[in-house]
Amino acid sequence: MRYEAPATSRDAAAILAKSKETAFVLGGGTDVLVKMRTGLIEPDLLVDIKSIPAMKEIKVSDKGFVIGAAVSGAELGEHKLLRKYLPGLVEAANLIGSDQIQGRCTLAGNLCNASPAADSVPAMIAVGAKANIVGVKGRRKLPVEKVILGPGKTDLKKGEIIESIAVPKPGPRSGDAYLRFIPRTEMDIAVVGVGISVTLEKGLIKKARVALGAVAPTPLLVARAARAIVGTKLDDVALDKLSKACSDACSPIDDKRGTIEYRTRVAGVLARRTALIAFERAGGKR
Ligand SMILES: Cc1cc2nc3c(=O)[nH]c(=O)nc-3n(C[C@H](O)[C@H](O)[C@H](O)COP(=O)(O)OP(=O)(O)OC[C@H]3O[C@@H](n4cnc5c(N)ncnc54)[C@H](O)[C@@H]3O)c2cc1C
Repeated sequence: MRYEAPATSRDAAAILAKSKETAFVLGGGTDVLVKMRTGLIEPDLLVDIKSIPAMKEIKVSDKGFVIGAAVSGAELGEHKLLRKYLPGLVEAANLIGSDQIQGRCTLAGNLCNASPAADSVPAMIAVGAKANIVGVKGRRKLPVEKVILGPGKTDLKKGEIIESIAVPKPGPRSGDAYLRFIPRTEMDIAVVGVGISVTLEKGLIKKARVALGAVAPTPLLVARAARAIVGTKLDDVALDKLSKACSDACSPIDDKRGTIEYRTRVAGVLARRTALIAFERAGGKR
């Protein structure tokens, strides 16, 4: 097996584009290495992105945050401004695995692993995050909700790599939240995950984004659920409509962690709780 550690995103893209072997990007490796050890994948080439400076930093500007693809969950949790402006996103990223996993796991890796249950993905979708993608032919931006095409499948073409995740700075009176339900207290895969962001104006919700994980082949942006709460103070009628829209959007699997009926019901319940946290963080009063 060949191991490469290029110094720029373009070099990483060029190495991947030229390779005729089975190649994988190596971010934190918390999915890649586990899959190698269990024989699920046998890479001929690993392209480690951790020597690329642009992938190791969190840039902050008036427009928002640009989070390098190799920034770990632990680094996100230690970033004061990220915690202040995007607490839901940071909490979702910090739910991934244990302390050991936190030292390595990344948002980009969570996204590109393309699990329907990836914890940070609904949280990224809720805050309008975009993937900055580099390829040999140039760069493009893709909203996070368009990156995953199905379990284990992404929109990335051969030779394309995510350099960073861009998140717009939330406006005044905004709040985000992420909640997941797991059968155990920790270190488990979400049965349902819900990410919600809201922005208030004169006490009412002016803008909202609602995203669900683990209830369909891909994480979902549920526009109907957002419409259910826009223009409201999150009164009980609005919460009922939000809950129903979320349950209606579900087409989950049936497995040992939860039946279809259970996941569908939990999605509605969790959406209510997540919305209440986001609303309160935005300074809302019911
Ligand atoms: C014990 C344990 C517990 C876990 N718990 C959770 C959990 O609670 N919630 C959860 O969602 N996940 C969990 N995971 C899964 C995993 O930790 C996450 O998916 C993590 O975010 C992956 O990030 P990474 O950087 O380690 O990815 P890697 O393993 O490096 O990569 C994952 C995939 O993405 C590709 N990739 C990585 N970076 C890029 C990039 N920049 N551009 C293009 N492709 C890229 C890789 O080639 C690979 O296919 C757990 C894993 C373990 C081992």
